[in-house]
Amino acid sequence: MNIPINTPYSIRLGVVGAGTMGAGIALTALLNNMIVSLYDVSPEVLEKGQAYIQSHLKRKKKEVCFKNLFPTTRLEDMSGAGVVIEAIPEDLALKQELFARLDALCPPPAILATNTSTLPVTAIAAATTAPERVAGMHFFNPAPVLPLVEIINGARTRPEAARTLIALAERLGKTPVVARDTPGFIVNRVARPFYGEALRLVGEGVATPAEIDRLVRMGAGFRMGPFELMDLIGIDVNFSATQSMWEQTFGEPRYRPHLIQAQMVQQKALGRKTGRGFYSYDPTPPAVDPAPPRLAKRSGVLILSGGSWAPGLETLCRQAGYTLQRLEEGWNEPGATPLAGIVQSGRREGLAEQVALMDIRLPPDVPLLVQCSDIGLYEVAARLGRSRRLVGFDGLFLASGRAASLTATEELSRTARAGSEALLSSLGRLSVWVQDSPGLVLPRIIAMLANEAAFAAGEGVAAAETIDTAMQLGTNYPHGPLAWARELGYARVTTVLDHLREEYGEERYRVAPLLRRWSRLEPDSGE
Ligand code: NAD
Repeated sequence: MNIPINTPYSIRLGVVGAGTMGAGIALTALLNNMIVSLYDVSPEVLEKGQAYIQSHLKRKKKEVCFKNLFPTTRLEDMSGAGVVIEAIPEDLALKQELFARLDALCPPPAILATNTSTLPVTAIAAATTAPERVAGMHFFNPAPVLPLVEIINGARTRPEAARTLIALAERLGKTPVVARDTPGFIVNRVARPFYGEALRLVGEGVATPAEIDRLVRMGAGFRMGPFELMDLIGIDVNFSATQSMWEQTFGEPRYRPHLIQAQMVQQKALGRKTGRGFYSYDPTPPAVDPAPPRLAKRSGVLILSGGSWAPGLETLCRQAGYTLQRLEEGWNEPGATPLAGIVQSGRREGLAEQVALMDIRLPPDVPLLVQCSDIGLYEVAARLGRSRRLVGFDGLFLASGRAASLTATEELSRTARAGSEALLSSLGRLSVWVQDSPGLVLPRIIAMLANEAAFAAGEGVAAAETIDTAMQLGTNYPHGPLAWARELGYARVTTVLDHLREEYGEERYRVAPLLRRWSRLEPDSGE
């Protein structure tokens, strides 16, 4: 069963489907000196696939490899292949029909692999007489470029079959990760909240797609925001992946599709491919981010509470030239009028007292910024009484990001608004004003990503490190979600999730058991 594939030309690869993925997989194999039979039902698609492959080989000065490509419209020509990778449309019945035919045409020890993104490998394998030689081999688009390949063990896949596919992936220069056959495997599953929470934030009127994308890029270091990524992937493709996950899990609330996406599909605003999605690409794509403000050298006094929900904030303030004074120590420096007061304790306990104390002592119209993680700004405002200077901020990503969200009630004075923006700007951070909501924007999205990863790790889909690697290589995330949660502090992440759960009363925001355990084991952060 174990096919040696470490010698050149020792294996003939069969690829079924010459569309986006099939042509990309075939090109990758040719570039790695393999012999490839490429099949498609449509001669036109086959021709287009060949043209794509030829032009890429030419560009890489590897035209000679083109002779190793055997295009065909006869499925029988797959019979000599050691491994056949299927890349036909995401339709279970279609794939099962094909696998039944391949089963008869390509007897063992040939291995049959599916590139499905969301369908159960076990169900596809069930259409064959030998499900032990069927596994998932999930490439990412564009296949010749993206380094990750998920190898998925169906319920009956034999270890030798998976091992052969791992060796094949390595031979193709890829990084294979092994996952259990569960909806969405690793990457398409863990990535769901990236889109799902962003859609909810828009649906709730917290921020616009452009504001969320900007915060995600500039505030958290992602290369693309969720809305521009949905536009690139295709809103219909993204929507059907979410829908499939939701259906396969019998309505798991974390995967519930959003009406906004359904309506985009109904009006055929599918993203770049139709010229219009969350952004319009006609005639030009959306504008790029403004340069973040430079860290300015300023002088003046800032009053800070204790707490550590804005890691790095104090260092940042000192670098900008501010003098910091502690709320607990009182401040009575003659002539030193503070520019702002910042409550960075995060935790609900004792927060109202800190805010009240700060409010009494700050001169009128000096902004009072409150870290909003465990508590919403309106709750703080309600405890304080009407306030014209109260501003909520998200400090969790302040140290690493170049943009941060601010929120306020309708009472906010112009002076306090301008003062908060000037403060953030002097710290080199762009202000993005959003509506109050639990965890604001980034903590909510990142906490839900980490939570999904922790659910997957806890359920044994893959090891925690494997999940992190997969997310970085498969989707280009700046950090693995679980390592990120560790860095932010598991307790802070669970606090954001608990706040969301309490506010919305939805099971969607329940904390993954593994994340909860890790947060309990975490050394006391002293807050
Ligand atoms: P595609 O529509 O570009 O290509 C599918 C090809 O299959 C078409 O050329 C079509 O002519 C051909 N086809 C249809 N029925 C066939 C049959 N019975 N036998 C042989 N060929 C047949 O689709 P795609 O984007 O390449 O996706 C293929 C698979 O890869 C899907 O399962 C998809 O979920 C998965 N996938 C897609 C992406 C992506 O970003 N496009 C990424 C990872 C995985």
